Amino acid sequence: MNVIYRGDPGFEEARVDRIFNRRLSPRQPAAIVHAGCERDVADGVRLAVERGWAVTVRSGGHSWAQWSLRDDAVLIDLGGLREMTYDAGIVSVSPAVRGGSELAPFLSAHGRFFPGGHCPTVGLGGFLLQGGQGWNARGWGWAAEHIAAIDVVTADGALVHASEEQNSDLFWAARGAGLAFPGVVTRFHLRTMPEPRQLTQTVQAFRLDDFDEVMTWLHGMHHTVADTVEIVALTKTDRALADEPVLLVTAVAFDDPGALAPFRDNPALKRALLVVDTGPTTMDEQRARQRHDSPEGHRWEVDNAWLSGPPSAVLPAARRVFTELPNDKAFTIWFSMAPLRPLPDMAFSVQSEIYLASYVPWLDPAEDARHREWLRAAMADLEPVAAGRYLGDSDLDRGPVRFLTEEIRERLRAVRARWDPYEKIGSQGLSGDSVAPTASSVANSH
Ligand SMILES: Cc1cc2nc3c(=O)[nH]c(=O)nc-3n(C[C@H](O)[C@H](O)[C@H](O)COP(=O)(O)OP(=O)(O)OC[C@H]3O[C@@H](n4cnc5c(N)ncnc54)[C@H](O)[C@@H]3O)c2cc1C
Repeated sequence: MNVIYRGDPGFEEARVDRIFNRRLSPRQPAAIVHAGCERDVADGVRLAVERGWAVTVRSGGHSWAQWSLRDDAVLIDLGGLREMTYDAGIVSVSPAVRGGSELAPFLSAHGRFFPGGHCPTVGLGGFLLQGGQGWNARGWGWAAEHIAAIDVVTADGALVHASEEQNSDLFWAARGAGLAFPGVVTRFHLRTMPEPRQLTQTVQAFRLDDFDEVMTWLHGMHHTVADTVEIVALTKTDRALADEPVLLVTAVAFDDPGALAPFRDNPALKRALLVVDTGPTTMDEQRARQRHDSPEGHRWEVDNAWLSGPPSAVLPAARRVFTELPNDKAFTIWFSMAPLRPLPDMAFSVQSEIYLASYVPWLDPAEDARHREWLRAAMADLEPVAAGRYLGDSDLDRGPVRFLTEEIRERLRAVRARWDPYEKIGSQGLSGDSVAPTASSVANSH
């Protein structure tokens, strides 16, 4: 087992290695274990137990709030585990593998597909444990619904297998508990699907003057579109279209080009700055666009809300977050989940027909406070129409986040009590409607 203790040479590099959000937290783990095999993971957990430290995990490093960093914890970095094996529809994969840039080409060689995160660099570990809003989630469901089984190192250092049949409570928790999952997943066994062969897209761009008309229409029609189509509206700055932010309505159809026809009924279409109607596209092109919109090396603030209510209530509440973006790299998305699919029995439990998330990247640390305050105020406007949050785009340092229903929270508490009675792994506690950050993480953040 390769351990670096606080104060050792190389500690700081290891502390922040592979973290996507470069607005780096000052939180200081006690030790960092670079796991090269499952035994290293078990040894890391035992080290934490012996020394009275907590355990945190880093898979892909894409947690916006850097949950892998916690004061006085053993950080188990899974970056050295790189397994990908495929057999009869199931891919077995290590948590640090990136869904788009690594797993997708591997599966494509087998003619298979898995709905990983939109940005190709997102690690599978955190993404799947939080639910995973992958490609066409409105049609294919949450990525976690495609988990067949997991291998897990538990708080006593044992390696166990969990599925619907075996250790089913752990399997239930792995699909939505996020950082409150009471174990370290070392391998996911995922059900794959045939690779989509024909992707087509419709893209329509509008000036923000058309925001109300276009979004009211979208609210009224998105649940009628076939579930082979991913529908996202977003505001962003695109200098090729205008010098000010624009509204884009985008729809990507998977093996079903005819399903894009309803977008021709957009009542503002005559005023569109750009119209692509059922044009050809590829996953590579879509992923490259995501990567362009989420640049590396930046400082980030992000937040999100599940929206609930009629357009007459939602649109005024969402006006600031969509139409007053704080810089020319920021963007806010409206992501359709309609018609809402019933969830299987899993910990993931809070969603609505519309997901809103706002992403604010910048470079200059002097801009931290301004961007943080803008997002805080814009999200406060949304409170009257917010039905909860998605853990994946949440920052618990900002306050409690309701991402589980009350019933699920209680069940998760019981699963944690069974598998991690001394609260070593993940969240220190489930409190109120949230998983509370640790006291020290609050004190040390920003
Ligand atoms: C650019 C970008 C794009 C994104 N796009 C999407 C998207 O399209 N859809 C979406 O749903 N989310 C998206 N996210 C959010 C993303 O899913 C979460 O940030 C997720 O945590 C990333 O997983 P990770 O393994 O890379 O993160 P990490 O920072 O490595 O892990 C986050 C936390 O998850 C837990 N965890 C991770 N791995 C394990 C494990 N093996 N065992 C136990 N606990 C573990 C730990 O608490 C860990 O600290 C995006 C994030 C970024 C930065």
